[in-house]
Amino acid sequence: MKWKRTHTCGELSANNIDENVVLMGWVASRRDHGGIIFIDLRDRWGLTQINIRPESSVYEEAKKLRNEWVVAFKGIVESRPDGMTNANLATGEIEVMATELEVLNAALTPPFNIVGDNVASEDLRLKYRYLDLRRQEMQQNLVMRHKVAQLARNYFSENDFLEIETPCLMKSTPEGARDFLVPSRLSRGKFYALPQSPQTYKQLLMIAGFDRYFQIVRCFRDEDLRADRQPEFTQIDVEMSFIHEEDVFAIVEGLMERILRETLDIEIPRPFSRLSYDEAMRTYGTDRPDRRFDLPLVDVSGIVKSSGYGIFVQAVASGKTVAGICAPGCASYSRKQQDDLAAWARQRGAAGLIIVKVGAGTLEGSVAKYFDEQQAAAMIAAFQAREGDLLLLCADERDLMRQVLAELRGEMAKRLGLIDDQKISLTWIVDFPLFEWSQERNRYVALHHPFTSPVAEDVEKMTTDPGTVRARAYDLVLNGLEIAGGSIRISRQDVQQKMFQALKISPQEAEQKFGFLLEALSYGAPPHGGIAFGFDRLIMILAGCQSIRDVIAFPKTASATSLMDGAPSEVDAEQLIELGLQMKERSLL
Ligand code: ASP
Repeated sequence: MKWKRTHTCGELSANNIDENVVLMGWVASRRDHGGIIFIDLRDRWGLTQINIRPESSVYEEAKKLRNEWVVAFKGIVESRPDGMTNANLATGEIEVMATELEVLNAALTPPFNIVGDNVASEDLRLKYRYLDLRRQEMQQNLVMRHKVAQLARNYFSENDFLEIETPCLMKSTPEGARDFLVPSRLSRGKFYALPQSPQTYKQLLMIAGFDRYFQIVRCFRDEDLRADRQPEFTQIDVEMSFIHEEDVFAIVEGLMERILRETLDIEIPRPFSRLSYDEAMRTYGTDRPDRRFDLPLVDVSGIVKSSGYGIFVQAVASGKTVAGICAPGCASYSRKQQDDLAAWARQRGAAGLIIVKVGAGTLEGSVAKYFDEQQAAAMIAAFQAREGDLLLLCADERDLMRQVLAELRGEMAKRLGLIDDQKISLTWIVDFPLFEWSQERNRYVALHHPFTSPVAEDVEKMTTDPGTVRARAYDLVLNGLEIAGGSIRISRQDVQQKMFQALKISPQEAEQKFGFLLEALSYGAPPHGGIAFGFDRLIMILAGCQSIRDVIAFPKTASATSLMDGAPSEVDAEQLIELGLQMKERSLL
């Protein structure tokens, strides 16, 4: 590199006219126009047009330049001729008349366009991630990520929180998901786990007296991946001492207020709305409702059970629930559209959809005849339906019904254009139950995690009536996505032991897995609680992306592989021997 760069490709303007400059970057495009060569030179900051005249001594060399070559130009800043300025470009008033050129590196033709529309498959983008990351859209996403990380750091520091790092190699503890394990070479036959979250460490930091902690931290969960999950992801992790729920809410609301103001220029009303878990499940069928639109679920079991419609009557008699949503203005749906919706619901496990049109103060269609005038009026009132609406009803077990209708609610909102993309809807979900029954494990499991405190009056019921115990837990939901979750923690050893007992973790196992925490709780643990944000998901929403992979520099695929470097990969036999490990054929397992 012969010269020193004087400016970036995004900063020259009419104020720099006549200056001698040196720019360096990538060739975004080369155009030959009536003998003149125009190069758009690109870097992280923008694009600058370089103009190379036939009389220039670098003209012949410039002809050889191709997209994505790395070059340095020396030249003089000139204003663009009248009518040639580009108001869409920060540097659109000027161009640089090249006097000298140095090719810093040639480049192969990239497998997809770096500038303009990118239609490459995601696999190709992930294989050449360093090229994909050159695209402006991806650069903006990572700039947004950086900005929010810095903003969070400043915010917590200003509020007296300390950023403290916690280990990546820790003890394997059953915390919910499956652990990633790391074999120990020095302690043969033993394993570290990568943290699913620093939950126990941040509690220990409270016991150690740090009072207010935060960390922007990587977490690892070896799960089968769903659409917006990654095996490693980032949390903004927070813990505070001597606090109640309201203190956590205040800190989090202050952070969200600042993030939304400084990234999207949006002022959000505080305090954020709150919804109990029960109400969320009843009204929206999910504990992470998108409240940018209404379409509430309405349980009409009480009305339909006395109708003449056998399917409904039998469903209610057998303990199922009949509920639905009212799709405004959809009575004009064709038979086919209705059949497609029913098939859509069946694919999701529902028995089907019963679809009823709303007429002028009456119900219409084949099912209507089973409802007398009073029942029809009660249905219309329950849904607050209007003429021309369509009732979409499900008759299933309560949980399945909720699941299907929650999805249907989102689907109909999308189809009917009821979602305002510009809107930000934030809701605290509160009053969670402490446990939920797991059919699969045939026992209660913690709805959040086993360190969540029960409401004080319910402590006794933890072992006698676990299903009714209320938790001091909360989630923050943004536009239908859970972006943060946390709780006030158990700070007494006896309560923590009771928790393990309720989860059917034997005292021996509790001691073996969590002995360190139980011991620490008996050395003066302050009342404490906290929360953790899913950082990737938050950035995804702020950046308006559909996938968290678009806000992570080097993400994994849905099968947890890296298409770029080929991780995970086989290792040398010696490496295994050193660790005392031996691979077995799958068929021998
Ligand atoms: N450690 C929890 C989680 O990762 C969050 C919390 O309770 O603070 O979900």
